[in-house]
Amino acid sequence: MIQTKGFAAQKVHANLTSWNFERREVGTQDVQLEILFCGVCHSDLHQVNNDWFPGIFPMVPGHEIVGRIIQTGSGVKKFKKGELAGVGCLVDSCRICKNCKQGLEQYCLNGSVATYNGRAKDGSPTYGGYSNHIVVHEDFVLHVSEKLSLPAVAPLLCAGITTYSPLRYWKVGKGHKLAILGLGGLGHMGVKFGVAFGAEVTVLSTSPSKEKDAKALGAHKFVVTSDLAQVETVKGSFDFILDTVSAKHDIAFYLSLLATNGVHICVGAPPEPHLIPAFSLMGGRKSVSGSGIGGLPETQEMLDYCAENKIVSDIEIIDMNYIQTAYERMVKGDVHYRFVINMASL
Ligand code: NAP
Ligand code: ZN
Ligand code: ZN
Repeated sequence: MIQTKGFAAQKVHANLTSWNFERREVGTQDVQLEILFCGVCHSDLHQVNNDWFPGIFPMVPGHEIVGRIIQTGSGVKKFKKGELAGVGCLVDSCRICKNCKQGLEQYCLNGSVATYNGRAKDGSPTYGGYSNHIVVHEDFVLHVSEKLSLPAVAPLLCAGITTYSPLRYWKVGKGHKLAILGLGGLGHMGVKFGVAFGAEVTVLSTSPSKEKDAKALGAHKFVVTSDLAQVETVKGSFDFILDTVSAKHDIAFYLSLLATNGVHICVGAPPEPHLIPAFSLMGGRKSVSGSGIGGLPETQEMLDYCAENKIVSDIEIIDMNYIQTAYERMVKGDVHYRFVINMASL
């Protein structure tokens, strides 16, 4: 077994502290990464707090992982020792179901294996990227360009793909009015991709202080959602709303901002269910949809697209022991726009 150092929540709601654990030896098809940086996703905090379902503890969060390959199994074909690589939200899936065969491993009909707070096929718990090493089957490892700033690439593995995937699926681009609801980790990547794909992008935010940043990210408009006069100017106007909000919010209010045939895409995952009045959809043939991370081929496509177009996340690099403060700031919406842990501080 490989001795590994990480940071874990020992039980639900617990502060994260230093914890040593073991990972499996590198198998024939496995790749071992020395983790250099790991992004901090709001999902990490949701799961430490059992917001969605009872978690597996001790829990080592982290699914925005980048690092260098230090070992490969004898059967590994796609990767070489010394290369940069990434691991996102998934470490395994069945590979044989209809969805896996289409590269939609995130929707594996037999259940994909999450990078942490999941169970590997042998039943053992998975541990994430707030740690110094990880061992993953090569099929779930991604190539990372040497051309981009490595810590700023880490958030692409979740925040990046989670916004890229729905925008591609709905072919959002030139001629579309796209609203990004919530300017945090996912939201700021949504703005970057929306602008890159040619859409007219409006940020809908609860934080007036983020206007300058939104414009610097490329957004064409910024609307403070508590200012009803500002909201009135965008009523019935958006083709798509990409909803990245992590806490309870009133979807019906935002549905009134959609144009006829508009689509509200849920990627934010608040603990509470949404209340959606039928009338808010009927008056304009509107839809509410959702999208979960992205499959392996599309995640690689997104990373390659980012390398080609010099797209990375706007980050604040932190030490491992800053994690509780980072979580507190995340809850307050005070993230600009992703915390990334420097694993050298572990
Ligand atoms: P984040 O960085 O904390 O950003 C969330 C943003 O939502 C905040 O910055 C804030 O933006 C806005 N917000 C927060 N509370 C709000 C409220 N009560 N009402 C309205 N807006 C509010 O979080 P994140 O890492 O981007 O993640 C966002 C959500 O997506 C989380 O629930 C996460 O679990 C989920 N997620 C889903 C997937 C998926 O596969 N679908 C993948 C990753 C994450 P403003 O200050 O601009 O209002
Ligand atoms: Zn995430
Ligand atoms: Zn499958």
